[in-house]
Amino acid sequence: MRDEAVTKIFETAKAEGRDFLFEHEAKALCGHYGMPITAIAVATTEEEAVKSAEKIGYPIVLKIVSPQVLHKSDAGGVLINIKDEKALREGYNQILKNVKAHVPDAEITGILVQEMAPNGTEVIIGSTNDPTFGPTIMFGLGGIFVEILKDVSFRIVPITKTDAEEMVKEIKAYKILEGARGMPKADQETIVNTILATSKMLEECPEIKELDMNPVLVYEKGARIVDARVIL
Ligand code: ADP
Ligand code: MG
Repeated sequence: MRDEAVTKIFETAKAEGRDFLFEHEAKALCGHYGMPITAIAVATTEEEAVKSAEKIGYPIVLKIVSPQVLHKSDAGGVLINIKDEKALREGYNQILKNVKAHVPDAEITGILVQEMAPNGTEVIIGSTNDPTFGPTIMFGLGGIFVEILKDVSFRIVPITKTDAEEMVKEIKAYKILEGARGMPKADQETIVNTILATSKMLEECPEIKELDMNPVLVYEKGARIVDARVIL
């Protein structure tokens, strides 16, 4: 049986007539399944944003939360690497201005204040719902590897740990995760555990039509899910 808090996330979105989860809801969902999400808070005033940033620690990232904005950076709704309170206050107002200019009728639910994840190896974990097979989980490296080269692996949910390990190893760019050409090695155990947790989440949450954790930044130890999108 899944956690009450998980059900509540879907109920809130449904009650508000949304067919997608806000990033903080999607990350809370992933967090319930033990996945490595960024520290995150929702602010509804500039002062709240300042307090949250102090708690999380600079540098931080600000992002828009609006039911009319699914692709946040397209609306000028993402500011990264904010280093101090002055930049935070400016950034808070800049985002509101940007979003008003791009989407004039956007309702503003709040502003996300989140941990700025350091650079790492970019991977993508996602899912689609196949009409015949049900939820299918996808893994690949970020950027050109998925978008241009279509270098991805797929499995039908639910999967075993061995399946998850094979998904990681069977992409053509696998050597990059192994630290080819002096690149840092990526923590494959964390990737495998995150893929497994995703499978469990998809199994328990038929509400999820589409999932896109992109990018997930992977380090020599650990990882951070930087953006998570869920379509209901
Ligand atoms: P969008 O809704 O436009 O996809 P994202 O949340 O993906 O917005 O943010 C856009 C980009 O900003 C990301 O692809 C990533 O490169 C960077 N970014 C976003 N959040 C963070 C973060 N917490 N730490 C580091 N980089 C981030
Ligand atoms: Mg994104």
